[in-house]
Amino acid sequence: MFGELAKISVILSGEKAGELFFEVGLEYAKYFAVDRADCFVLALLPQAAMDGVDIVSRVPVSERLLFQINTFLCGTLAEVYTQRKIKITAPIVREKLENAGAVGTGITCGVDSLYSIAEYSKTPFPSQDLTHLCLFNVGSHNIGLDAPKEMEEFRVDLAKRFCKKNGYEFLRINSNVHDFSPNYARYFTVLNAAAAMALPKLFSSYYSSSGCAVSEFHLTGTDLAHFEIFVLDCLSTEHLKFYSTGTEVSRFEKVKTLSNYAPSYEFLNVCNTHTKNCGVCVKCLRTLYALDILDVLDKYSSVFDVPAYRKRHSCFLAQCWVRKTFAKDIFCKKMWPSLRRKYGIPVWSIIRESIRFVRSRVKIYSFAYIRYRLQDAKH
Ligand SMILES: [Zn+2]
Repeated sequence: MFGELAKISVILSGEKAGELFFEVGLEYAKYFAVDRADCFVLALLPQAAMDGVDIVSRVPVSERLLFQINTFLCGTLAEVYTQRKIKITAPIVREKLENAGAVGTGITCGVDSLYSIAEYSKTPFPSQDLTHLCLFNVGSHNIGLDAPKEMEEFRVDLAKRFCKKNGYEFLRINSNVHDFSPNYARYFTVLNAAAAMALPKLFSSYYSSSGCAVSEFHLTGTDLAHFEIFVLDCLSTEHLKFYSTGTEVSRFEKVKTLSNYAPSYEFLNVCNTHTKNCGVCVKCLRTLYALDILDVLDKYSSVFDVPAYRKRHSCFLAQCWVRKTFAKDIFCKKMWPSLRRKYGIPVWSIIRESIRFVRSRVKIYSFAYIRYRLQDAKH
């Protein structure tokens, strides 16, 4: 599927010894920079910060990157992980790398990724227009899935078809970084930046599609994406600038933008549990609620089973109420007032779904925990 591959790697010693690599199709090998270890330092940084372990590199690191990480980022990571502040030691390289001026972003075909593609493909600033859509294997395919291989193949195929049909270069980078930095969900922003940094002679800019609005900016060790504007600024170098995109709008506004972006009708893929949109999981339903409010469900009939959604409409509306009330789902909370205005309150369905919700949780949690969550939900 990959064709012939080229690999850039380092040998690590210490507690987690072994070879850490990034590999790409052979045609991209010319964009590696073998004189610097920037991508490897980034790949190891968040887990090292979490563990309180210093990084020492014999291969040089770009001067600005090393300065920014040691001066600004490591202290912040120490705070969010409540760990000692780590230090990166490496020779510095001051020479600025020339690059091909490519502009990239990830393509999962989810709401955030398609929003970035819709917004940054034809800007008034030609050097900022997207040229490459990327799929980085740095751990995301291993999260909560029964069949990660199947999911990976599906995503690669979907991304390739999107690029071919809409005129973008498709770039795939594979890495074993998850063997060394296994907590993908907690710091994927940095791992994806590391993958882009593996080709510093290619990219001048890289857009990181954020699922977190800047209005909700806060420091947390749970997921660095909540303050990725700061993180990505620390990771940007003289030759590669990272941008956190989509932070200025809500998820609903992103769906609204997509509803006028025709490629999304055929490619929108939001489900985390199945390859095709299942239409019943939280992520699918959040998107369906937004499409419903915008009156554009029928535009998406090739990617969602719209008749099935309509058939169980009052049940799904009730689930929105239940999730915003009991599960504190922030998206459902925002969506519910519009759904209520449009359809009223499906009282009986809400009672039924509430009972079902409580029953399902009693199976999982103790009674004391449920009582705590219910009380908590009232505040
Ligand atoms: Zn789903």
